[in-house]
Amino acid sequence: MENKTILQDAFGRQHDYLRISITEHCNLRCSYCMPEDGIVLTPKPHLMTADEIVSIARTFVNLGVTKIRLTGGEPLVRKDAKEIMLRLGRLGVNLTLTTNGILIPDFMDTFREAGIHTINISIDSLEKDKFNAVTRRNYFDQVQENIGLLLREGFNVKLNVVLIKSFNDNEILDFISLTENDNIQIRFIEFMPFNGNDWDKSKLVTYAEIMDTVQSKYKLSEIERLKDAPNDTAKNFRITSYPGSFAVISSVTNPFCSTCNRIRLTADGKLKNCLFSNSEMPLLESLRAGESIIPLIHQNLAAKMPIRAGMDDDLKFQDPELFSQNRSMITIGG
Ligand code: SAM
Ligand code: SF4
Repeated sequence: MENKTILQDAFGRQHDYLRISITEHCNLRCSYCMPEDGIVLTPKPHLMTADEIVSIARTFVNLGVTKIRLTGGEPLVRKDAKEIMLRLGRLGVNLTLTTNGILIPDFMDTFREAGIHTINISIDSLEKDKFNAVTRRNYFDQVQENIGLLLREGFNVKLNVVLIKSFNDNEILDFISLTENDNIQIRFIEFMPFNGNDWDKSKLVTYAEIMDTVQSKYKLSEIERLKDAPNDTAKNFRITSYPGSFAVISSVTNPFCSTCNRIRLTADGKLKNCLFSNSEMPLLESLRAGESIIPLIHQNLAAKMPIRAGMDDDLKFQDPELFSQNRSMITIGG
């Protein structure tokens, strides 16, 4: 076993949270994530096998990673997703996943056996027509049912909502109403620019706008600012009389880079030291050649920039020349 060293970058940030995309495939086509013309899929031999995912994850755990999130594409469409979850569950980490929720019923036993207690489900509208329009598929009813199933079965459920102006910004209060009866967390995410997702600033619903909307219904004294967990990317709140909570992830207007503890692994085995970085560190070739990947991990972390992969001001961040050099979100995994 390797010595446990903290994965620290040049700015003293310690990385103990690994996000692994296990597939580029998805059973939805969300407009803000998947380019309209689809993506060029990586040929299967260049994707990580279950053994390789577990091997790389184990290396990270030995280097101090304590939390692993599975994502995609849609992680639950991968044929060996159950095996991957069960094997990662044995690494003794806090294992979790982000999913569109469609396939949840097939996985309830696996979640329990793998020690997965908290699940993030993406749902951008509570109106069937709008949900089906943004996802370009017809799974609204299943997703609603499956959220109910998880809650009834005692899982911690977080709903990820990407807010887009004139699309779902009129549903902010409807989402918060869900926290009135259930201990559920709503996570409002600012719409972020990626290759092929037709982003522009006019579609952004900002943290400030979200909070203005909340204050249009609730008195300031009813809106409690909760203590954020260390390294939390979200600013957390609750309506004082409600059991659930809500949060805002303001990567665009209020980045949280100074406390970043995340490192990402793509389905084709490349490390991304930042969601927004277009430089990646391939691990798979070295792993397959029987070489240690540890120096590559350290090299990738050492190159991590202080803020959003160098897009440290709004002009750079909103420049299509720059953000279109990054992958599409569907191949990063959020
Ligand atoms: N398929 C799974 C799902 O949808 O939950 C996991 C992968 S998806 C890429 C992970 C998260 O990224 C989702 O919550 C999704 O809403 C979010 N996401 C995708 N594109 C985004 C964008 N342009 N801005 C903000 N969040 C985005
Ligand atoms: Fe698929 Fe998730 Fe992207 Fe939607 S957000 S297209 S469900 S990967």
